[in-house]
Amino acid sequence: MEELLEQILSECRPFIQKGKVATYIPELAKQEPNDFGIYVQNSDGSHYCAGDCTKHFTIQSIVKPVLLLLALMDNGVEGVCAHVGVEATGKPFDAINVSDKSLLSEHFNPMVNAGAIVLCSLLKGESYDVRFERLLNLVRQLADNPEIGVDEAVFRSEQECGYKNRALAYLLKAHGLLQDDVEAVLRCYFRACSIRVCSRDLAHIGMTLANHGRHFKTDERLFPAEYARFVNAVLMTCGMYDGSGEFAIRVGIPAKSGVGGGIMGVVPTRMGIGIYSPALDEKGNSVAGIRALEQLSKRMYLGIF
Ligand code: GLU
Repeated sequence: MEELLEQILSECRPFIQKGKVATYIPELAKQEPNDFGIYVQNSDGSHYCAGDCTKHFTIQSIVKPVLLLLALMDNGVEGVCAHVGVEATGKPFDAINVSDKSLLSEHFNPMVNAGAIVLCSLLKGESYDVRFERLLNLVRQLADNPEIGVDEAVFRSEQECGYKNRALAYLLKAHGLLQDDVEAVLRCYFRACSIRVCSRDLAHIGMTLANHGRHFKTDERLFPAEYARFVNAVLMTCGMYDGSGEFAIRVGIPAKSGVGGGIMGVVPTRMGIGIYSPALDEKGNSVAGIRALEQLSKRMYLGIF
């Protein structure tokens, strides 16, 4: 297996040239485009890795499935669906208004920024610092890594340059879709995006989702299977930005990417996958990362269709 992963990395490495690291958050522009790592966690406890699989990067949008999970744990399915839709927007993740009508919650889903910002406001906790700590603790628990923390430099960069997110959050507020103080909600959202992880952490989180809520190592039930099915279904239709349809055909598994260069793959009942390669295509997906997942899926028959 390790040999297969090495082989996939060397076959996919040339695709790094086709992408570019994100620059709209200045701190992300400092990433090394040639970093490339993959980590696979199997349901039988075995795990394999190749390349830079313990290199740290910010989780970015891959926090969105965890945010959705915590919102479901706090509010239930109905409580979440009252505030955010589940249909793919077909638009970029940070699109300002995805409809030509007045903005409604059904116009966005939990995997685009508008949905994720609203989800922050659904978390339980007397302050937004408490809500963020609960989210961070869930990331740590799912990843089985108590060391996970925040990249403060990326957080500051997001705070300073997150103009579109700020515009989006005020628009949500103007349409009555966000009740709380916009800056407090945004601080929680930006901190969530700035959580530092490595490919192994993503593979562990993916494996717990693949395991329908049972911890990948201890088998302890962390959340109801119904919530895992909800999250995995949304990942399948909306997880890879506005490239989710093509990804479903080429790779065929629920997955989430982030502009930090990470991808988390979920192979229900079988496997969690973490990949890091920060050179992105124009939609925000890791070019070599998608290619590697495609190869792994083809050679190991991972596609769920
Ligand atoms: N912090 C990023 C933003 O909201 C996350 C984007 C992403 O990974 O898609 O702009």
